[in-house]
Amino acid sequence: AKSAGRNGLRFFNPSMQAAVSARAALEADLREALQTEQFFLELQPQVDAAGTAVGAEALLRWRHPERGLVSPGEFIPVAEATGMILPLGDWVLRQACAQLAAWSRDPAMVGLVLSINVSVRQFRHPDFVSRVLDVLEDSGADPRRLEMELTESQLVDNVEEMIGIMMRLRARGVRFSLDDFGTGYSSLSYLKRLPLNQLKIDQSFVRDLLVDSNDEAIVRTVVALGESLDLRVIAEGVEREAQRDKLLALGCRYFQGYLYGRPGPAGALSRCVAREA
Ligand code: C2E
Ligand code: CA
Ligand code: CA
Ligand code: CA
Repeated sequence: AKSAGRNGLRFFNPSMQAAVSARAALEADLREALQTEQFFLELQPQVDAAGTAVGAEALLRWRHPERGLVSPGEFIPVAEATGMILPLGDWVLRQACAQLAAWSRDPAMVGLVLSINVSVRQFRHPDFVSRVLDVLEDSGADPRRLEMELTESQLVDNVEEMIGIMMRLRARGVRFSLDDFGTGYSSLSYLKRLPLNQLKIDQSFVRDLLVDSNDEAIVRTVVALGESLDLRVIAEGVEREAQRDKLLALGCRYFQGYLYGRPGPAGALSRCVAREA
């Protein structure tokens, strides 16, 4: 590293050097991981007020031969920064549609909606809409069973553009859910214009719901907002019955969290649905 100079490089110290090379190593591993099939999806059930599964969220997992399981919190930001999120997001889309096609042949699973997380970089790519429509058609998945989770913070910039992309997919039946809701800066005026199906209450508001009156006020507000905009409201991170009871009392009707099931293989979800039936 440079010890002095006219530019910021003089602040480039050994620990920053280490962080940069660790990131470069992660990036290189990420590239290889797609080729060698180190990724897989886990599904986590989403249930209604009766506890019946209505869908699942697909969560990306990376098992590296030496690193072991790397958390998405660690590799998704690197994938986004490097553009790797494009091939990776495409892989998730293809896997999810293959899963939906398999479910369409299983009477117990045919009605379930599968949600995928879509990064804004992927979403705004000029070929995104045509790519999604191609994958849907090739796989035979029903577009009405595919849901895309977008985060609030990703939508605020370029709202017009985002609405345009959403409308084109919405016209084919694709559903949209606003993830991590309450943590961003949504304004009511644009929320009304987005072609959404669902608001997802962030787990940070569920965690301390029983003790924090601010969280209760936020949940109450989101539920009311959902009602007035005619959107479904789902709470994530529901771990305890007492949280579910409180959410129910506040008018929330859909839930996701360890209380109902941890993210797991598709087979575990089918068994859980079969048990309910
Ligand atoms: P997210 O979309 O907010 O996903 C919810 C996270 O909460 C998941 O973490 C899930 O495993 C975890 N979770 C579910 N139920 C509970 C619970 O009851 N208690 C607690 N404490 N946590 C719960 P995960 O799988 O580590 O994913 C982290 C984030 O990585 C996701 O947050 C999402 O933003 C991102 N991500 C995951 N898969 C994908 C993907 O395929 N594409 C993109 N772009 N991002 C993804
Ligand atoms: Ca999500
Ligand atoms: Ca979330
Ligand atoms: Ca999140």
